[in-house]
Amino acid sequence: MVHTDGRLTTCCLDEHLENVLGNLCDQTLAELWWGPTIHSWRVAQIEARFEDSGPFCSRCNWRSAGSYPPDKVAEYLAHTDTSTESGEGGAGPQAENE
Ligand code: SF4
Repeated sequence: MVHTDGRLTTCCLDEHLENVLGNLCDQTLAELWWGPTIHSWRVAQIEARFEDSGPFCSRCNWRSAGSYPPDKVAEYLAHTDTSTESGEGGAGPQAENE
């Protein structure tokens, strides 16, 4: 969700801006959307590690909706660039013919 001052959060429930990824006045949407922070939060989310998917998610009642099944987690991870763990690259989807 983009707020009026440019801050980008992961969730429309985050009215106090706890899960802020950054500010669109400083970075592009692509940089934030595929950056290392959202990548680690996204992986934590699909693995049902809500305490690791942003400060707001650890207290959210909606997390009971469940996590991705293990095969879907594996599929997601197989199609993402995990090089951000070394601080390089992005977490965007890899090209189909890489
Ligand atoms: S777990 Fe809750 S706070 Fe986190 S993204 Fe989902 S709905 Fe939003």
